[in-house]
Amino acid sequence: MRLSDINVIRELLGRHGFRFSKALGQNFLINPSVCPRMAEMGGAAPGVGVLEIGPGIGVLTVELAQRADKVVAVELDDRLLPVLAETLADYPNAKVIHGDAMKLDLGQIIAEEFAGLDVAICANLPYYITSPIIMKLLEDKLPVRSITVMVQKEAADRICAAPGTRESGALSLGVSYYADPEILFKVSRGSFMPAPNVDSAVIRLNVRPPQYAPRSEKQLFGLIKAAFGQRRKTLMNALSSKALPKDVLAAAMAEVGLSPTARAEELTMDQFVRLSDALPEGCVAPR
Ligand code: SAM
Repeated sequence: MRLSDINVIRELLGRHGFRFSKALGQNFLINPSVCPRMAEMGGAAPGVGVLEIGPGIGVLTVELAQRADKVVAVELDDRLLPVLAETLADYPNAKVIHGDAMKLDLGQIIAEEFAGLDVAICANLPYYITSPIIMKLLEDKLPVRSITVMVQKEAADRICAAPGTRESGALSLGVSYYADPEILFKVSRGSFMPAPNVDSAVIRLNVRPPQYAPRSEKQLFGLIKAAFGQRRKTLMNALSSKALPKDVLAAAMAEVGLSPTARAEELTMDQFVRLSDALPEGCVAPR
């Protein structure tokens, strides 16, 4: 079955009485060149288990299953389960788990399903959860070598932005703590059905051990979120609060060698780590 062929998709979905849900970010791939490339560049290969999020009708799942030892795909929409049972019937190494990728214990799924295999994550993500799911995948410290995902082009630029640039922010800093991100290739909006209003890109996060050892990761990420939450303000104005009086903040910034007028986007990750460590524990909460 050619799952990127519009006529095949229409016939299949019509037979199952399926209608696209905008709320679940359902834009299915119809460009036949994208999924093979994603599967290859996402590391699907012998000896590898791949976790997919949001298989839709299985267009990427079959490409992953043709290359990897095993694929486990988590799909939230139960209307797609009978469709997937049909499209994946010839792939005994592909398994579908019904559930919400934001709520499931993905570490447990990996431990149970991929024993003895290297693990990669590969997905055309539902756009409404792009940032939280990427941060969850990283913060859960899953034993994966890479996370290869399709996201909106603008999100790709923000995730892969270098520190100090206009696009950099809490997301790019958070990602860079756990992984080296790269944009692999762009995908036009016409490659999807229904077509979204914006173009997309496939990015790969090459996961590695964190290069910093903050006293508290929670405080560090709280600080970064609070600082970028009001990125036009100076850190002094963005961060000071009842729990963090100006004089305490000023002393910590001076200890790290930061100017009293510094703004979030001027700081490197190293400076954020040192500032977080210089502040009293539990004094920063994102607004
Ligand atoms: N992989 C398919 C493709 O490339 O054509 C579908 C991708 S579509 C952009 C996103 C998929 O994620 C949909 O199938 C949607 O139902 C599913 N989805 C949405 N929210 C989800 C969640 N929280 N957990 C798991 N799957 C979800």
